Amino acid sequence: MGKPVVAIVGRPNVGKSTLFNRLVGARKAIVEDIPGVTRDRLYDITDWDGREFIIIDTGGIRFDEGDIFAREVKLQAELAIDEAGVIILVVDAREGITHEDEQVADMLRKSNRPVVLAANKVENFNKQLEYYEFYNLGLGDPIPLSAMHGLNTNDLLDAVVNKFGPVREEEDEIDAIKIAIVGRPNVGKSSMINSLLGEDRVIVSDIPGTTRDAIDTPFEYQGQKYVLIDTAGIRRKSRIREATERYSVIRSLKSIERADVVLIVLDATEGVLEQDKRIAGYVHEQAKANIMVVNKWDLVDKDGKTMHRFDQDIRDELKFLSYSPILYVSALTRKRIYQIIDIANFVVEQHHRRINTAELNQVVNEATLLNPLPGGGGKKGRIYYTTQVRTAPPTFVYFANDPELVHFSYLRYLENVLRQNFGFEGTPIRQIVRQKKRDMQ
Ligand code: GDP
Ligand code: GDP
Repeated sequence: MGKPVVAIVGRPNVGKSTLFNRLVGARKAIVEDIPGVTRDRLYDITDWDGREFIIIDTGGIRFDEGDIFAREVKLQAELAIDEAGVIILVVDAREGITHEDEQVADMLRKSNRPVVLAANKVENFNKQLEYYEFYNLGLGDPIPLSAMHGLNTNDLLDAVVNKFGPVREEEDEIDAIKIAIVGRPNVGKSSMINSLLGEDRVIVSDIPGTTRDAIDTPFEYQGQKYVLIDTAGIRRKSRIREATERYSVIRSLKSIERADVVLIVLDATEGVLEQDKRIAGYVHEQAKANIMVVNKWDLVDKDGKTMHRFDQDIRDELKFLSYSPILYVSALTRKRIYQIIDIANFVVEQHHRRINTAELNQVVNEATLLNPLPGGGGKKGRIYYTTQVRTAPPTFVYFANDPELVHFSYLRYLENVLRQNFGFEGTPIRQIVRQKKRDMQ
């Protein structure tokens, strides 16, 4: 089902960002930085009590410059209602209930979404009166807390996680390849879905019902089952969606997380924009198999070198995806659309690829002979043994005499060596360096 989404809403200055930072803070420090990706602190993945969830600070999402605050807060709440499994409404216990609080509470109540009410800025828990009046919002027990001082945030997290409902297993989709289509608004995701599902050899299963959750489209192609993730969501053109590109990132984040393979759709007429980088960054960060699909190829004036130039530009802008295949298509004319599925199969295979240990060690040994590890402090760096500990994504552990001597740049070299020898097209690779165990020679 993917990770639940939790959205923080509330009027300005009640402490949404402070709470957001408090809730994701601990995790943040261990997330690797990817060069070329703009860091954005509006949404993140965190966990509590063993449940991982995506958390969004809607306060950071600006819809329209110059818009009045009240409307802004309303739009943010709408977004939360649309997208979140659980909503945290933050109010300021020092100021008491304001008209804006009431308006937002009204919207949330009518939406029937699970809401947790956070009475922030409570630093003295003996003074219950401070937050009692918030019962009047009709959203249940207010949870007193101080985001700033980290007081009682555990209670809040307990309440949030309690509303998630049981972990549901994905039932009859175990053998289906889940494909997410992500990208900015208007790059042609919806058109691509239509043209994919319109392919002669693609068999779309009937999906009964039009419930909110029936958002995926299962189909079959050459005997293999697939699921296109969030097809309904992509097709639904809401007011909010048009209003902000940020929205597409949140949407994408949810889909990426559930996918086996991600199609990162780019618009040939616009090139690679910041927003594309951000979305692509999440795909890479979540270590998903992926393909870059450049759409609207029909609109490009071409000479013999056009594709090559595009390749170079894209590689330049999205350096961290140097391993991903680039495919030029037109959803409109259906040019090369069928190839999407073939390449998706291929990268999924690469993502699950396991390399024989003997062969792996031979390749790594040769590489370290050809380009020895730099030494340090009079010590010579050595890698004794390499093993692939998992697939999806392929993950390698190098046992070295001194892990400190295996620098980032050397790992990049080794990654290139692995890719040259074994391929791994379209899949990120993870590399871990460990201290040699005593019984290894
Ligand atoms: P947002 O606009 O809702 O995102 O609010 P911010 O997180 O930017 O916080 C607004 C102000 O309230 C800042 O000056 C914070 O330092 C302050 N603030 C946030 N949480 C607390 C809290 O728990 N206690 C106190 N005393 N101040 C807080
Ligand atoms: P989405 O917002 O990413 O789902 O994008 P849409 O599928 O709604 O497409 C946005 C606009 O681009 C629409 O006007 C489409 O008709 C147009 N479009 C999509 N794909 C192509 C294409 O391959 N070629 C051309 N010329 N136009 C396209």
